Amino acid sequence: MAYPATIFDTALDAIGQTPLIRLDRIAQDAGLKCNLLGKLEATSPGGSVKDRVAKRMIEIAEEEGRLVPGKSVLIEPTSGNTGVGLAMAGAIKGYPVVVVLPQKMSIEKETAMRALGAEVVRTPIGLSPDSQLTHIAIAERLRRDIPGGVILDQYTNVNNPLAHELTTGPEIIDAVIASSKTSSRPSSGKVDVFVGPAGTGGTLTGVAHALKKVHNPAAVVVAVDVKGSLLALPESLNTPYAGMTYLIEGVGYDETPATLTREPGWIDTWVKTGDDDAFPALTQLLRREGLLVGGSSGSSLAGALQWLRDTEEGRAVAGREGANVVVLLPDGLRNYIAKDWFRDLATAGERTAVAQQLSDSLKAY
Ligand code: PMP
Repeated sequence: MAYPATIFDTALDAIGQTPLIRLDRIAQDAGLKCNLLGKLEATSPGGSVKDRVAKRMIEIAEEEGRLVPGKSVLIEPTSGNTGVGLAMAGAIKGYPVVVVLPQKMSIEKETAMRALGAEVVRTPIGLSPDSQLTHIAIAERLRRDIPGGVILDQYTNVNNPLAHELTTGPEIIDAVIASSKTSSRPSSGKVDVFVGPAGTGGTLTGVAHALKKVHNPAAVVVAVDVKGSLLALPESLNTPYAGMTYLIEGVGYDETPATLTREPGWIDTWVKTGDDDAFPALTQLLRREGLLVGGSSGSSLAGALQWLRDTEEGRAVAGREGANVVVLLPDGLRNYIAKDWFRDLATAGERTAVAQQLSDSLKAY
């Protein structure tokens, strides 16, 4: 879908319509013959794939009369990106927004939400799922206390996966079909593989539906679960379980959200990635492709490369010219600039010849 030449009524109308970008240098480094394509969600106005979900959950709740401007207060437990989308919508539509955010999540997300006028409540991490202090439990308590409080609940709301079935998936399909007609690069003309990380599972579930219902029932959907989370199947992939102690944000969970499909036939296979392989993959996205993407984009790419390298099915795809492998890149690096891991990553690696030359030159001033 080409970016439309139009004037949008509000920022909400500009949500989505994100580019699909060839990751040729990474593909070449990994010896892949297939096309490796990144879906860059950081270009959405709120900076992530979750803008789509916030927008759709709000619009449908308004249609159903659950949300009433001037009366309702939006309360949401989130790892941040859904909160940014809700805060954007709240600013435009006039809803007060209260976001309940685990302590682990970046200060940049909190600052963005506050800048948009939302209130942010931080909750402790390292809790058991049945604790009364989880972000989900605290949001529920606030909903009871705050008059007009409504939780749209991205963990159970069918409009979370539906937002992706109706926008993310079709955008990917349209881009792959259109470019197979206009580009001289080899293409199967369809989306053969989709790889994405799991948080609520909304992206994977919705895109799987969009791909397999009509476009290509034989498409392979590869879900990436972070080590330390319990979402992957078979469950044996999740051992040993050492608690959700990883640094990557927005992914993983210790129980299956309703928005993550467990129906057979949609998600074909799971791979596990940890911080240890997500950060090098993120560095590849930055240094080889010039993409300012966030930590879970590294998980996504690491999962894709692992599947293409370590499974028979993946190796067959990797060796097939024109096969289209789409990797979801859920948000942008500007969400994480103040994180210690970002500083480590930005200064990592060998000094280039020009960096050495530069420091020698500067000494002479
Ligand atoms: N990456 C980031 C940075 C996110 O914020 C999220 C949403 N929690 C995801 C990945 C996972 O997306 P989903 O909730 O659709 O599984």
